[in-house]
Amino acid sequence: MGQVKDILGRPIRDLRVSVTDRCNFRCKYCMPAEIFGPQYAFLPKSEILTFEEITRLAKIFSFLGTVKLRITGGEPLLRQDLPLLVKMLCDLGSYEDIALTTNGYLLSKYARELFDSGLKRITVSLDSLKETTFKYMNGGVASVQGVSKGIEAAISVGLQIKINVVIQKGVNEDQIIPIAEYGNKLGINTRFIEFMDVGNHNQWMKEKVFSARDILKVLQSKFSLEPIVSSYRGEVAQRYKEKGSSWEIGLISSITKPFCRDCGRARVSADGHVFTCLFGTNGFDIMSHMRKGIDDDYLMGLISKIWTLRKDKYSEDRSLLRGTTDKVEMHHIGG
Ligand code: SAM
Ligand code: SF4
Ligand code: SF4
Repeated sequence: MGQVKDILGRPIRDLRVSVTDRCNFRCKYCMPAEIFGPQYAFLPKSEILTFEEITRLAKIFSFLGTVKLRITGGEPLLRQDLPLLVKMLCDLGSYEDIALTTNGYLLSKYARELFDSGLKRITVSLDSLKETTFKYMNGGVASVQGVSKGIEAAISVGLQIKINVVIQKGVNEDQIIPIAEYGNKLGINTRFIEFMDVGNHNQWMKEKVFSARDILKVLQSKFSLEPIVSSYRGEVAQRYKEKGSSWEIGLISSITKPFCRDCGRARVSADGHVFTCLFGTNGFDIMSHMRKGIDDDYLMGLISKIWTLRKDKYSEDRSLLRGTTDKVEMHHIGG
């Protein structure tokens, strides 16, 4: 079928597949413990996509022009036998790039197996090197040491690591320099992300956003940075490199400088719903169609139709849409 474009002319470039909605952290900006406590009902196994279904979807998306694939969650390393899924996806041979996003806590356990399954790149989320702030942000669950051990284990087996940092005003802006220095020392590219109004429970206010521009100013007080021309249309991060080295930082300004016009990212939740925007509501239930036995041509036609009808640009229209209360939760759709 080849490349499909949406109503605004945007092709699908990128697919994010959530492999579980469960998580071992309770980050305040994603799954605050007051809401996602012990009583919260996560999806039962029968209602999440099997590895075969995920692999089939990845193949169909690649036929429609998708070149990048990211495995996410919830916490993807909680999904049993994840390295097997990684192998199935790598064996497709259809993607230029396959990566995983993780909170890093179980990484020291799985790094070797993931690498042996064919994975090359991992993004680890790390919002603070200061124990008290880290614990405050992740709901009191995990220590910095556990995550840094995971990062070191991943590097030692040959995985390429990137760090994602969400900066919230009044919470962890004092960590911009320490995390950048940590990344710089280990040669890990580091991306700083503005706090977003995803889901319905993270008490987002624009006053809590520490802008990408301000993050850059803080970084420039310590590092000599020069801008990098984006390598492809639709690249989400504005990238900078340190003069005289290959170390990079990225800034993701979803709030202050939205990039909807170039957004070519499709997402599939663990229960097999296709979302065409991070701020969508219900998505399109593709899993129930797949379980009725539709063939690949029909499935491709369905996904193509979902994409071609897409006109999302939530971040550009944020001021008009503010107060929307039925957005999909981040741990469900995977970031
Ligand atoms: N559990 C994994 C992790 O934390 O890396 C993967 C899923 S998590 C939903 C994916 C990414 O979304 C993480 O890098 C996380 O920091 C980011 N994220 C979650 N809530 C966010 C928010 N409100 N604003 C900005 N980024 C957020
Ligand atoms: Fe879990 Fe990731 Fe959400 Fe934190 S950001 S609660 S680690 S899914
Ligand atoms: Fe893409 Fe939606 Fe984010 Fe805009 S708001 S960049 S359309 S995911």
